[in-house]
Order: sequence, then structure tokens, then C-alpha cells
Amino acid sequence: MLEVLRQPIEDKVVTISRAQGSITFPANFMMVAAMNPCPCGYFGDPVKECTCSFSTISRYQRRISGPLLDRIDIFAQVPRIEYEKLADDRLAEESERVRSRVEDARAIQRARFEGTRLTCNKEMTPVEVRQFCQVEQEAQSLLKAAMRQLALSARAFNRILKLARTIADLTDAPTISSSHLAEAIQYRPRSLV
Ligand SMILES: [Zn+2]
Repeated sequence: MLEVLRQPIEDKVVTISRAQGSITFPANFMMVAAMNPCPCGYFGDPVKECTCSFSTISRYQRRISGPLLDRIDIFAQVPRIEYEKLADDRLAEESERVRSRVEDARAIQRARFEGTRLTCNKEMTPVEVRQFCQVEQEAQSLLKAAMRQLALSARAFNRILKLARTIADLTDAPTISSSHLAEAIQYRPRSLV
């Protein structure tokens, strides 16, 4: 079922075909999804042992196909939270502050794309990625190494550059440095088994 999301994620439309004809609806959305690392949920947990076999874990993780993974921008592993952190009254960072940082980055993107049909980095096509995602000289080799080692597709390559552009915007940096790029690369999926 998840596989049917591949097209709407790319094209931002959903087409429903019936005998009487087909209708296309707008479907511009942000997909946020979560899954366990294995059926029992404890694979990789430092405290509780996972009871799944290697083949069960592998089969479970393969339920999300490569092409669908390729279309997701950010992957984050969420490890167990220790009691001390849960009980800590001090919150990490206030939502208000994060919000204002995001709004500033959005304003930068609106200014960047003024006069075009685009509103944010995510919407860039490969042509615009080349135009707007300037990677600093010293970051070029990192990009090249990542492409080779992670065997990235052209789609993943463009996604990394767009994400790196956004990370740079969050600090109001004009060009993409190796630290922006490194952060974007670490959000690519890694095989868990
Ligand atoms: Zn398990």
C-alpha cells in the first residue's frame, strides 16, 4: 500500500481511475512516518535484547522499498531515552525559538525564488539545484565520496543538495559548506542489518 505514495510524493497529485474516467486531485503533502527497527521493536537497543532472527529483521525492513526510501529526505534513528533525560525539567530548546529560525529560513527561500513558480528549496528541479545549491570548493570531495560510498541515485543526490541548502539557510549561510553537506548526508537511510 505504501508504494502508491511514490507518485504523489513526486508529482504532488493523485489520479484516481475508474471505468467512467479518471480524475486528478492536488496532493501536496509532507510525509512523516515512523517504524520499528524489527518486529519486536528492540533491534539495536542497548538495554533490552531483540528476539528476532536476522532473516525476520531483514524481511521486515525490506517492506519499505528502495524507491520509496529514495524519496524520503530525512531519516533519523530514535534511540531509547534514559530516565535522567526524561526526568530533566529543563527543556532542550523552546518551540518558539525553533519556529522563528524556520520562519527566517523560509523568508530566505521566498526571496531566493522571487519571480519564479517556486516557494521553497524542496520544490527545486535538478536544473534549479545546479543554479541555487552552490557547494563550497572544500565540500566537493565530500560530496563525491558520499556519492560513491552510499551508491546514491541521481534523485538522492539532488535531495541531499536541497536539504544541505536548507540547513545552510537555517544559519543564513550563502553557500553550502562541508558541515551543511555532512549533516544532510547523515540523514540518508542506512541499512540496519
Ligand atoms: Zn527484534
